[in-house]
Amino acid sequence: MANSCLFCGANGAGVLTNEHVIPQWLLEHLDLPANDMLFQGVASSATDTLIQSPRIHSTFNFVQGHVCEKCNTGWMSRLEGVARPILVPLIEKERTIESLALEEADIVGKWAVKTAYMHSWTSPLKRPVQLDQLKALLGDGGKPFAGVGVFGMQSDFKKQSAYFQTGFWPQLSKLEEKRFDGIPDEAYKVGLQFRHLYLLTAFWPNPMSVLTLVKDLHIPIFPVEEDGLPDYPLDLTVGDGPVDQLALLTKWLAVSHP
Ligand SMILES: [Zn+2]
Repeated sequence: MANSCLFCGANGAGVLTNEHVIPQWLLEHLDLPANDMLFQGVASSATDTLIQSPRIHSTFNFVQGHVCEKCNTGWMSRLEGVARPILVPLIEKERTIESLALEEADIVGKWAVKTAYMHSWTSPLKRPVQLDQLKALLGDGGKPFAGVGVFGMQSDFKKQSAYFQTGFWPQLSKLEEKRFDGIPDEAYKVGLQFRHLYLLTAFWPNPMSVLTLVKDLHIPIFPVEEDGLPDYPLDLTVGDGPVDQLALLTKWLAVSHP
């Protein structure tokens, strides 16, 4: 994998390019100064506290070197092209997430997953997203891996852009005596924020368990479940830090076990 494209596996001299983790058009839209720093928090799975001081990347140097020219200029470029006119009004809060038509939500969902994986694979994390999930996105017809969910919210913001990944999962069950075996290695949550738009990509590997929303917080974007996902009430107090709202959205998505 060391010298292969994360998405299609292509390798060889001159095949890989440096792809901005935040796409160029979005960097320009956010009008970030050249010295902008991307705030990134990584939280512990056992507690909800930050396990390390926030990493700060130079936003413009935050690139992923494992994307090939063909993917970069092919399906990924076309995905940016169709996603951009839908994302910009969401980022500026000129339209709501709830107003997305099904096919628009599909595009936002795939774009969020792709961008989350680019972040996850560029950060020095212990457990990056499994490669078969990246490969599922490949091509114009590529779709997020079965079981991946994308949830959003729109709110005010402190930073133009932020990134938050955590292994913290509230776990719910109808059976009180149920014991949980911890958090599977394959589970992940990646939160992204671009101005008013907050996007959470999440995956829990056991298909018997369902992702569970915080009532009045998470808005489902992808996939759209016919019966809707379960939700639970949570008293929310948002801190005042630069990434607190994103952390809230990311941490408190739960999983319900049968
Ligand atoms: Zn490729």
